[in-house]
Parts: sequence; structure tokens; C-alpha cells
Amino acid sequence: MSLTYNFSGKVALVTGSSSGIGAATAILFAKSGANVVVTGRNATKVSEVAKQCLNVSPKGLKALEVVADVTRDEDLIRLVDTTVQTFGKIDILVNNAGMAVRMGFEDKDYMNGYKQQLQTNLDSVVFLTHICVKHLEITKGNIINISSNRSVQTRKSYSAYSMSKAALDMFTKCIAVELGHKGIRVNSVNPGAVKTDIGRDDTVGQSGVIPWYEKFGKLYPVGRHGVGDDIANAVLYLASNESSFITGSVLVADGGHLAANMSLTHNFVGKVAL
Ligand code: NDP
Repeated sequence: MSLTYNFSGKVALVTGSSSGIGAATAILFAKSGANVVVTGRNATKVSEVAKQCLNVSPKGLKALEVVADVTRDEDLIRLVDTTVQTFGKIDILVNNAGMAVRMGFEDKDYMNGYKQQLQTNLDSVVFLTHICVKHLEITKGNIINISSNRSVQTRKSYSAYSMSKAALDMFTKCIAVELGHKGIRVNSVNPGAVKTDIGRDDTVGQSGVIPWYEKFGKLYPVGRHGVGDDIANAVLYLASNESSFITGSVLVADGGHLAANMSLTHNFVGKVAL
């Protein structure tokens, strides 16, 4: 991949960077010269991604590894403190850590799953952003939230996930308005189906063996599902000076899924509607 951006001297903290979209984003920031903070709950995966960052960093910069659970406030405080102690500042915060659980609204355990997803996908973002503002104000930094195109589209048995992402989009817009005068921009990237671990048990089709991203990706106007770099490139654009007039925006990166009015709830494929 050719280098598009230069983030030399910048510090990028990417939550959920032990895997998937977050890992691709951390690695692309490292490749573009940034100091990167790699974080997640799985220490082994955090270390693996940190190694990949080091390997691609033009100046051989070592990524900071922080094992942390975003649902624990004390972990998030430690994450920010360690970042600032190590690098002296934060320029870019990417709120990417997230989870999606398939569960029907009438499932017995619905409320537990609901709370867990809201805590992970929304509450953690609000808290981490809150404690980062004073650092981002100094650097006139950037916040990029990783939402989903499901924030505006239902899929059966994913109500809590969609609600968490819909609220996240509104959070992006609200705080973009409040933080603009401090020179902080806030945007979101809303992916469609991207091949990562998030849906590893989510299969579709009669035999139930087709990974969901394969099925939906094939139907997308671009003819394929996304990969981590598709989203990472959108994040780096929003973190760059090239997007300095953009704040409070929701950048949909979904291969045309929403534009094509594709439904994930009902299968209209092959049907003709007049
Ligand atoms: P992955 O499952 O590959 O990655 C999720 C990341 O989040 C992991 O690094 C995981 O780290 C971290 N994470 C989850 N829960 C916690 C927690 N409690 N504390 C700390 N870290 C946590 O999924 P994706 O890369 O696909 O997901 C990244 C983001 O992209 C999510 O917000 C998701 O909603 C969004 N998204 C993804 C789409 C897709 O098709 N893949 C589509 C639309 C949006 P660890 O396991 O080490 O804790």
C-alpha cells in the first residue's frame, strides 16, 4: 500500500486495536509515522498488533501496549494516564472498541445483553472522550468514532447494537458542536460488512455456514465486503488536515449498502416489487 498520510509526531490512541478494524487503523497510523497506543483486553493480541506497528513504522517507533477493558472506568483512566506519561499528549482518539450480540427482544437474557452492548459501544466512548477532552484541547485534536450503518437500519435480533450505534451518531454530532470552539473535530465512520472477528459466529444461508459478511458483501454495489484497511483509510482521512472543514459528520463506508436500500431483516433478493 502506498503512503497517503503523514502523521509524524502525532499520537493516536485506538481502542479495540487488538483486532479487526482497530488493528488495521493502528497499523496504518504507525505506517504513516504516528506514535500509536494499542489496546484491548487480550494481552497476546495487543502485543501482536504492537509488533506489526513497529514493523511498519518508518522511524521504528514502538507502539505503547495497554491491556484495558473499556467497560471499566479505572482502566480507561489508566489508559489515558499511561498514554500521556509515555508520549506527553494525545492528538487522535479513535473510539473503535465494540461488540455485537445477536439476541431477540423476547429472549430471557435480553436486558443483560442490552446493558453489556450499551456499556461497551456507547458508555465507554462517552467516558473516554470526556477524560480525553483536556488533552485534545491542547493539541487541537481529533475524535473519530466507529459506528455502523446499522445505526440507521434494523437487522432482526440486533436491536441493542443498532440502538447503541444510533446514540453514538448523535453523540458525535452533539459533541462536535460543543467542542468546535476548542479546535477539536469529532466525526464518525459507519462501516457496512467488514471481515473481522466481530461476526465470527454470525452465519447465514440455508446451511448456516456462510459468514454474514460474505453474503452481504456479494450483494453490495461494489461487489465485495469490506476489509479493515477500507475503514482505516476513512479514519486517517478524518484525522488529517485534509478534512479540516469536516466535523459532526457521519462518513458511511459500506460499499453502497445503504444507498442500495439493502435490507438485512427481510430477504428481498430475487423478488420483484412494483
Ligand atoms: P473485532 O471483534 O475484530 O474487534 C473488536 C475490538 O474491540 C477488539 O480489539 C476487542 O478487543 C475490542 N473490545 C471489545 N470489547 C471490549 C472491551 N470490553 N474492552 C476493551 N476492548 C474491547 O470487531 P471489528 O473490528 O469488526 O469491530 C470494531 C468496531 O467496528 C466496532 O465498534 C464495531 O461495532 C464496528 N463495526 C464493525 C463492522 C464489521 O462488519 N466488522 C460493521 C460496522 C461497525 P479484545 O478482544 O482484546 O478485548
